[in-house]
Amino acid sequence: MIFNEKMETLPREELERIQLEGIRRTLSRIKSSNSVLKEKYRDIEPEDIKSLDDLKKLPLMEKDDLRRAYPFNHIAVEDDDAWMRMHMSSGTTGTPVINVMTRSDIEQWGEIMARCYYAAGVASKDRIQITPSFGLFNGGFGFHYGAEKIGAFVIPIGAGRSRLQLQFLKDLGTTAITAIASYPLRLIEVADEIGFDFRETNLRVAILGAETWSDEIRKRIESEMDVDTYDIIGMTESGGVGMGIDCEVKNGIHVWEDHYVVEIIDPETKEVVKDGVEGEMVITTLTREGLPLLRYRTRDITRILSRDRCDCGRTHLRIDRIKGRTDDMLKVKGVNFYPSQIEAILMKYKQLSPYYNIVLEKVKGKGSMTIVAERRNGFSSEDLDRLNNELYDLLGFHCHIQIVPDGTLERPQGKAVRVIDKRVK
Ligand SMILES: [Zn+2]
Repeated sequence: MIFNEKMETLPREELERIQLEGIRRTLSRIKSSNSVLKEKYRDIEPEDIKSLDDLKKLPLMEKDDLRRAYPFNHIAVEDDDAWMRMHMSSGTTGTPVINVMTRSDIEQWGEIMARCYYAAGVASKDRIQITPSFGLFNGGFGFHYGAEKIGAFVIPIGAGRSRLQLQFLKDLGTTAITAIASYPLRLIEVADEIGFDFRETNLRVAILGAETWSDEIRKRIESEMDVDTYDIIGMTESGGVGMGIDCEVKNGIHVWEDHYVVEIIDPETKEVVKDGVEGEMVITTLTREGLPLLRYRTRDITRILSRDRCDCGRTHLRIDRIKGRTDDMLKVKGVNFYPSQIEAILMKYKQLSPYYNIVLEKVKGKGSMTIVAERRNGFSSEDLDRLNNELYDLLGFHCHIQIVPDGTLERPQGKAVRVIDKRVK
């Protein structure tokens, strides 16, 4: 089932031709606007971009460039008549970034989201329960536009109210749920408390994103909710959720290449790396008007898996599931690692709840790390020894493990907070 067969199965040469034109268009859009970002591109003209390889000539765009332009100095469309609405990044790590959307941007969003739904096997007969909030965060609206485009039935419940979510799942015949990746864990927990059985519902598909979620969490959600999960990507800056999703083949996340160009760079040297090599994802938008991006550093760590036609028929390239963000990377006792690597080990233990914290402290001038995990049922001292050894194998140093009763740690309403860094910065 392919939503826009013509565009999603274009031969690579055709995709690359569209991309070259789109890069020139985006560059000229920024240069002819009042956006403060145009200063960056003063010395380069659209006609200097003669091949896709010339994209490398353009300077990288950083999140701080967008933050400094708060609230609207980075927006490339002047006329307030053209402004339809805004979304905003959460701003948990500093000044937020605002994306202003035009009518065309909202249409583009609906198109790519519709493709994502089809890739997840969701179509007009489905009933979609949208659990991210409808607000400044882009999730709720993005899922809504796509659902309208495919003609599905929308249940716009929004965030929170887990018991009501479960009741709706059953009473309203929900077949697909969309959520921030860690939210199903909360639903599973509440279902346990009230004796709710997902197998008695029509729920078939869960489309999850906005956070890094390990394969182990994925398996847990799939088995406990009895659903097929799909990993969707996108961010406020790119125009919201829907930049890409994995398909039924589950062999990488397709990125819609007629709307976005993906590059992977070494975050240190900023050089583009070869396909297959892990690095930071950099994106260029080809069709966005309000906030066009040129070589924007997303901070997401991934790699290009393939540019060949996928078994699903789509030709758009596939990237690996996102492993973490460059600013999530932790450094303890000189060792670099991502929280998702710790999660992957913890989640192998069915006797632990999916909630955990990684607490970093300075003790007597030295870095110290404690993993706080919740015991669910029968986590034995042998299990603890085994966990200790597995963590040592990953990290090369011993960390403290604190096992607490189930329900001790806070259940987040939005994105999960797993790392608590008490070190002085
Ligand atoms: Zn595919």
